[in-house]
Amino acid sequence: MTQELHHFIGGQVVKGTSGRTSDVFNPATGDVTAKLSLASAGEVDQAVRNAADAFPDWAATTPLNRARVFFKYRELLEANKQKIAELISREHGKVLADAAGEVTRGIEVVEFVCGAPHLLKGEFSENVGTNVDSHSVRQPLGVVAGITPFNFPAMVPMWMFPVAIACGNTFILKPSERDPSAPLFLAELAKEAGLPDGVLNVVNGDKEAVDTLLTHPDIQAVSFVGSTGIAEYVYHTGTAHNKRVQALGGAKNHMVVMPDADMDQAANALMGAGYGSAGERCMAVSVAVAVGKAGDELVKHLAPQVRNLKVGPYDDPEADMGPLVTKQAYDRVRNYIDIGVEEGAELVVDGRELNLQGYENGYFVGGTLFDHVKSDMRIYNEEIFGPVLSVVRANDYEEALKLVNEHEYGNGTAIFTHDGDAARNFANRAQIGMVGVNVPIPVPMAFYSFGGWKRSLFGDHYAHGPEGIRFYTRMKTVTSRWPKGVRSGAEFVMPTMK
Ligand code: NAD
Repeated sequence: MTQELHHFIGGQVVKGTSGRTSDVFNPATGDVTAKLSLASAGEVDQAVRNAADAFPDWAATTPLNRARVFFKYRELLEANKQKIAELISREHGKVLADAAGEVTRGIEVVEFVCGAPHLLKGEFSENVGTNVDSHSVRQPLGVVAGITPFNFPAMVPMWMFPVAIACGNTFILKPSERDPSAPLFLAELAKEAGLPDGVLNVVNGDKEAVDTLLTHPDIQAVSFVGSTGIAEYVYHTGTAHNKRVQALGGAKNHMVVMPDADMDQAANALMGAGYGSAGERCMAVSVAVAVGKAGDELVKHLAPQVRNLKVGPYDDPEADMGPLVTKQAYDRVRNYIDIGVEEGAELVVDGRELNLQGYENGYFVGGTLFDHVKSDMRIYNEEIFGPVLSVVRANDYEEALKLVNEHEYGNGTAIFTHDGDAARNFANRAQIGMVGVNVPIPVPMAFYSFGGWKRSLFGDHYAHGPEGIRFYTRMKTVTSRWPKGVRSGAEFVMPTMK
């Protein structure tokens, strides 16, 4: 049955009126499961007005009372974890356990913002001048927006709106049009937790909605997560309209495997990091850089495991990974495998051969492994965003590090070794935002901040953690002197403290 999905504005479901819709699919079968309303500029404007109306009261609500909503929200999210996971999996295709893991990582951000009163504390100095004190406070910005990708339809919105809202802002979320059900449900649960109407709004849409948010005079800041081309566009358009923008983009994460690494451990790590969620993670490892004699051994360990990967629909408890999100993604990934073969890389395991009985119209591509990939190949340089792992051979550590540092993306990287000195050197010299030492997917916890370097992030502040608090607040510094100390008469020279 095809469902209709609309917007969530001012605390209620609001039917789309633009007449434009997009199809939502079950990626395992290729069936259309829902028609999603795509907002017009006017509908986005209506949501912004709602959020703007809700802002003064919400900003005036004490940080403690704002945090209390998130304590309740956390309980509701825990109680509904399986339901949210199911909503994610049905539209994204990832297996249920993986979707539940995503929800847990989102809940951790909610737990972080339960400490809002502490997080929003400012600084105070007594007697910056005689009988003059100074203090700084962090105040909310106003209405802020989040534009999110398909691959984490719950977690990435939860990197944003809990932090923004706990800081006193009101929020417009424009989720991915591929899997909008989970974010819509997150907003309903927030209302149930006691969030006043208009504080969190979900507007579904495409470029028209995004462009309206980027140019709207009442939007103060935009958080974006998605592909690099769009991230760059969002950053330039948003900042040209005087908004604060953080725009997180794509990735090509390298894992360096040193010759002294435990090959079982390294291969297992690569299996999870390369093929989990069908490689559709911005922190997925898509390049294994095998140093020296590590190469042959690593490929020997990897090949049988990649061949034996269990691929299936989201509700198959045996499946390691599900399908790709759309037919376009399916075609793109298969095309990259063709390109890799044409470029002369050695195709060790070919995921194009996968044929799942009963799911012939699904978007499944099997685990794919290339060896002897070179740095001038397209499959090395471009983000494939699928279950395709490239092994690159490096003669020594310096050559491996050079590959990591010369790649245009700088989201995550890892080194697998028993050598503390090599690990320390790598952590220090890698030109990458998030580094793992014997940890393949070094996603920072909610109380640290998430963000890459180079063309993986445009803007200054990272997501969640202390950087998130800074992004969603602006500083005000108050200098005060009380009447007894006020001297009469005007002063015309630049004030200096006496
Ligand atoms: P995407 O860039 O296609 O879409 C992201 C958002 O931008 C969506 O909400 C979409 O509606 C909107 N959008 C798409 N085209 C647009 C256009 N022309 N103008 C304005 N808005 C537009 O990304 P995706 O395919 O949904 O997600 C996958 C990408 O996201 C990958 O590149 C992945 O690496 C990246 N990603 C990065 C991070 C990170 O933290 N750096 C995290 C998750 C995903």
